[in-house]
Amino acid sequence: MFFFKGDGKLTGTGTRFLFHDRAGKNATGSAAFAGLNPLACIIMNPLEILQRTPRTNCGECGYPACLAFAAAVSRAGVAITLCPYVNLEGFAAEAPGSEKDMENLADQVAEEHDLALVENLQKKIRPLDFGAVAAAIGAGWDPQKPDTLHLRYLGQDVMLGKTEVLLDNAGVVDPRDQILLYNYVHSGGGRKPENIWIGMESMPNSISKIKTLATYCENKIAATLSSRPARTLKDIGTHLDGYAGPTDLSATATASLIVPVLPMVPQYLLFWEEEPEEGFEAKAKVLFDHHVLDFLDLESLVFSAERFAERLVYLVDTFR
Ligand code: SF4
Repeated sequence: MFFFKGDGKLTGTGTRFLFHDRAGKNATGSAAFAGLNPLACIIMNPLEILQRTPRTNCGECGYPACLAFAAAVSRAGVAITLCPYVNLEGFAAEAPGSEKDMENLADQVAEEHDLALVENLQKKIRPLDFGAVAAAIGAGWDPQKPDTLHLRYLGQDVMLGKTEVLLDNAGVVDPRDQILLYNYVHSGGGRKPENIWIGMESMPNSISKIKTLATYCENKIAATLSSRPARTLKDIGTHLDGYAGPTDLSATATASLIVPVLPMVPQYLLFWEEEPEEGFEAKAKVLFDHHVLDFLDLESLVFSAERFAERLVYLVDTFR
C-alpha cells in the first residue's frame, strides 16, 4: 500500500472501486458513479474514521494529515485501507458482513486500486524509449524487440513490456511488483551505486518510513534468521544474486549479504544473532546505496525492502 501518493496517486473518474450494495452483494463501478467505497459505505462519520487512525499525520496515505484522510474516506470515497495503520478491529461487529467478508472486501478494494495504478503507470511509460533507458537502469535491451526490457529482480528474470510483465516466464505477477518495476523503469535511471551505504534514517523525509521498514522488513528477517545456522544467509544468497559486502561494515555482524533487489538498487543486509546473556534480541539492518533515490521514490524503496524480506523468508523456508 505504498504507492498511492505522489506521482503514483490515482484520482478522478478512471479509478474503479468495488462496493457493497444495500443487499450486501459485491458490485463494481467507477468512482464517479459509485461515489463511495465499501468501507466508507459502512462508516460515514469522519471523526469515527479519524479515531481509527493513529493520528500521527505521517502522510503515507497520500494525505498530509489524518483528518484530511478521514474526510476523504467519508466524503470522497477514498479507500480506508490506504492508511496502513488504520485500526479495523471491531469493524465487523459494526458492519453488515462477517469479519471475513470485510477482509475479503478490503483485499478486493486494494487489488482494484493496484490494478488501476498498473494501468496508469503503463500509460506513463508508453512513450519511453526503452533503448535509451536500458543501460541506465541495468536492463538488457534488444533492438529487435524495442518495447521489451530484461532485468533481474530479487534473483528472478523479469521481462517487462509496455503492457505486461513476466516473472521467471510466468504471466501472473502481483500487481504490487508490477508497480515497483514500472516505477523503477519510469525513473529513467540516475547516478550509479557507489557502495556508499546509508540507513533509511539518513534519507530526507524518512521519519515515518523507519518504523515501516523495521516492521515489514528488518524484524521479519531477524525473526527468520534467528537461531538458524550462520551460513543460512550465504546458502540462499545465490537464489537472490547475493554477494559479500565490505567487511568494515559487516565485521560485527553474525552474517551479511548484499542483494541487488533491482539492478541499481542493491540492499546490504546485516544480521546479528541474539545474545540472551547480554539481553540483546536478534536484529537485522538494511542499508541502501546513497544514490538509491535516483531510482525509486521512498515509498517504492520501502516496498522493495518489504519484498526482499518476503522472498528471503520464502527461500529460507523452502531450502532449509
Ligand atoms: S497513513 Fe494513516 S496515520 Fe498516516 S497520515 Fe494517513 S491516516 Fe494518518
